[in-house]
Amino acid sequence: TMQIFMPLNFLGFVYREIRGALANIENLFILLDKTPSINDKPDCQDLVVSKGRIEFCQVDFHYRPDRPILRNLNFVIESGQRVAVVGDSGAGKSTLVKLLFRFYDVSQGSILVDGQDIRDVSQQSLRKAMGIVPQDTVLFNDTLFENVHYARPDASEEEVKQAIRLAHLQQFVESLPDGYQTMVGERGLKLSGGEKQRVAIARVILKRPPILLFDEATSSLDSQSEGAILSALRSVAKGHTSLVIAHRLSTIVDADNILVMQQGQIVEQGSHLELLAANGHYARLWQIQQQEEQEVTP
Ligand code: ATP
Repeated sequence: TMQIFMPLNFLGFVYREIRGALANIENLFILLDKTPSINDKPDCQDLVVSKGRIEFCQVDFHYRPDRPILRNLNFVIESGQRVAVVGDSGAGKSTLVKLLFRFYDVSQGSILVDGQDIRDVSQQSLRKAMGIVPQDTVLFNDTLFENVHYARPDASEEEVKQAIRLAHLQQFVESLPDGYQTMVGERGLKLSGGEKQRVAIARVILKRPPILLFDEATSSLDSQSEGAILSALRSVAKGHTSLVIAHRLSTIVDADNILVMQQGQIVEQGSHLELLAANGHYARLWQIQQQEEQEVTP
């Protein structure tokens, strides 16, 4: 029997390894973009996260030398702060997140996590420290339970269920005939955008990384899913350093700091009230969005 079971166990092992590897990537759209040129330094150490403080120092970046994208970015996200990035489409918000993940290296300047230049640490340790909730979450052809579980394969059944509860997915799960065992993904049940984002939040809750990155969906969700996502995020973000790419300003009015980007530069930063008082680009974006919301809600 040994001979029969060995290969099966081995296949199971390979399958878990592959899913484990994906757990550190999560964001497939970033993956597809990835240039293979980023290598670990031969003598690199693992990142040591003590507080989760992030610092961008005079960062310049271009994908191609003839087209600068980010110019002289300087900002700090203090430990435990929730910071939002806002700005027009193409301003460079997602690029900033890709640099923090080190899918690309900066052209000038440096990015530090707890004082360590991210080019000096292993990529594996860097990505282990960060959890991302992307706009469009990739689901595997597996059960809903396993889709959350893979984020931390050594988690117990109770821990997975708790993550699902904290992500405000419990009611959804209870509405399904097969509950946690419902097959999802390409060949299974199709989840709505809001449900998929909550699966991503459940994964992050299970993984418990010190740094959280949230890419708010551009497509509008119904206000019920949006409310559920926001309160789920609040519970995860507590005590963690988090960076939110926000499209709807109403979701980030209580952020500790808001970075306003325009054409690859930070043109303003401050709290919601400070930025309104400054009456600059943010105040204009806010007015436009308030008007749009009034037009859709009669
Ligand atoms: P949006 O709100 O629309 O998502 P954004 O602020 O996140 O926009 P980025 O995606 O960071 O903007 O893009 C900034 C600029 O970089 C854009 O002009 C874009 O065309 C360019 N860009 C993004 N990815 C690449 C890439 N892989 N290669 C070349 N140029 C790129």
